[in-house]
Amino acid sequence: MLKAELISDFEAMGEKKFRADQVYKWVASGVESFDEMTNISKSLREKLDGIYFIPTVKPIRRLTSAEDETVKYLYELYDGERIESVLMKYNHGYTVCISTQVGCRMGCSFCASGIDGLFRNLSPSEMLAQVDFAGKDNGVRVSNIVLMGMGEPLDNFDNVKRFLELVSDPEGLGIGYRHISLSTSGVVPGIYKLGELNYPITLSISLHAPFDDIRSEMMKVNRRWSIAELLRACRDYQKITGRRISFEYAMIKGKNDTEECARELARILKGILCHVNLIPVNPVKENTYEKTDRKELRQFADKLCSLGINTTVRRTLGGDIDASCGQLRRNSENKGGGNFENLQ
Ligand code: SAH
Ligand code: SF4
Repeated sequence: MLKAELISDFEAMGEKKFRADQVYKWVASGVESFDEMTNISKSLREKLDGIYFIPTVKPIRRLTSAEDETVKYLYELYDGERIESVLMKYNHGYTVCISTQVGCRMGCSFCASGIDGLFRNLSPSEMLAQVDFAGKDNGVRVSNIVLMGMGEPLDNFDNVKRFLELVSDPEGLGIGYRHISLSTSGVVPGIYKLGELNYPITLSISLHAPFDDIRSEMMKVNRRWSIAELLRACRDYQKITGRRISFEYAMIKGKNDTEECARELARILKGILCHVNLIPVNPVKENTYEKTDRKELRQFADKLCSLGINTTVRRTLGGDIDASCGQLRRNSENKGGGNFENLQ
């Protein structure tokens, strides 16, 4: 809840405003039950317990990379479902990558999150708890959030919208919209709806191919909304928000990494204020995709740059700890690197 909402609930119940402040402070400090709120009377604690629920994420496993400061968490939720988050250190501060759903129904062929379909949506507070826990567990202030973990954020629109409002509230974690990126596989109606909100978040599009036939093979969502429709929605989003759009492109050997793909990509992105992020695909054991070699990846990037497209090759963080979406939940064993802790 926003603090203002808690206050207005308390006032409606005939409780003093400062009590709402106290409760809000307790929740923000990380308590998991009303019983721990020692400056609140027992009768009020019992009353609150009957009305409200304090959502938490229970860490089951923590993997700390030996190569960098990346920390990956496997959490259990109140109903036993499991999700993943990652904390990453960049020059500008700490970024948490959160999940928005348990599983995902988009079924992209390269992704571990969608293999078993969608289990359920996450609530706004379950998203918030992932940010909060990662910061507290490492004693750091989280400055940025990316909605790039398990799940398709625009397939859980209302809860994601509410999460954005909660996490950016200065009375709460206070992580501003400009420090938040939302990644989508291309749920076109959701992009229009997000544009209407006009929040200055960064929209990140998982494009991965410039031709419909290749993209449809990799991403079922493209059979519903074509690349042309997707880019029309991106232009609309840009027109409203004025924000630069980020295009993610996972490089798969022999599939989407040809010079022809680079040329077509540059052609279709012309006129959009954007940035292309190339990522060597992370092989998952359920498919046969291989990473594009370093040299070819560089050539692809150079080609895009020479055609006027702002391009970067994403640095891989936590490569030794399966720090890629959906992999930890499926692979219960350690990959071998980093520090692996079972917390339950
Ligand atoms: N559902 C949203 C956000 C979560 S996925 C989306 O698809 O955009 C976050 C990013 O990881 C997406 O860009 C997705 O395409 C990418 N991704 C998924 N599996 C991957 C893999 N095996 N290797 C590289 N990137 C992957
Ligand atoms: Fe879902 Fe994104 Fe994975 Fe596709 S890439 S299955 S949309 S989480």
